[in-house]
Amino acid sequence: MIINTEGIVLRQRKIANNRRMIVIFTKQYGKLSAGTSINEKSRSKAALALRPFTYAEYDIFKGREAYSVNSASVSKSFYSIGEDIDRFMTASSFIEYLDKVLAEGEPMPKLFDLSLDFLQSVSVCNSDPETLLFAFIVKTLGMLGVAPELGCCVNCGKKPEDFGEGRKMFSVSDGGIICPECAQEEKRGADSLIYRPGFDIIDVFRYFESKPIKTFEKVDLKPEVRKEVRELLADYTDRYLGVDALRSLKGLEVQ
Ligand SMILES: [Zn+2]
Repeated sequence: MIINTEGIVLRQRKIANNRRMIVIFTKQYGKLSAGTSINEKSRSKAALALRPFTYAEYDIFKGREAYSVNSASVSKSFYSIGEDIDRFMTASSFIEYLDKVLAEGEPMPKLFDLSLDFLQSVSVCNSDPETLLFAFIVKTLGMLGVAPELGCCVNCGKKPEDFGEGRKMFSVSDGGIICPECAQEEKRGADSLIYRPGFDIIDVFRYFESKPIKTFEKVDLKPEVRKEVRELLADYTDRYLGVDALRSLKGLEVQ
């Protein structure tokens, strides 16, 4: 059977007999691995579709045990990502994140569309592209079933308006905002990961969640906010999704 699908290449590697194994995030079939004998080095239309940061259409033969890409054609190349180190590093973390959170054969069309929006925005943004990655990740948490609790204390259910004075805290280990009393309790545990950000954590999450990705093409976060958001999201995605894509990005920060 031949299937035709839109997709984004996540990674590829050489296998035997001059063939490559490519992992594609397809819109209709989710993530899938397929062999191909398309020569990536050639200048053919199909070869261009195997490049990173390319949105393409693929004709894939579905055999009994494996997929094989027969032909491909580029729908859109976000080539400008490769021309800027910040865009490139951010988009690489994005690919690493996607590859990690997607399960083979599980279609996630909304996440696919969001991914295209992300690539588009990174390719044209004129601010720090990392903000786009934060927005993308926050938006995916709900789709992946690991949205943080922001409506009430994740431990006792108290509403944030009853938290009293002081900054709102966020417990990564519990998965949401936490009231001062529960945070006090929690701190005694060895496993607690409580953040007390210098900004309103609920507002920031809601902002990332509610605005289209495009909004963040022009947003530059203050360096201290950026650092805190990055650390919080790195811990959160590590804990709930087993991803360390943000950590590798963190290593790049020049302090
Ligand atoms: Zn509480």
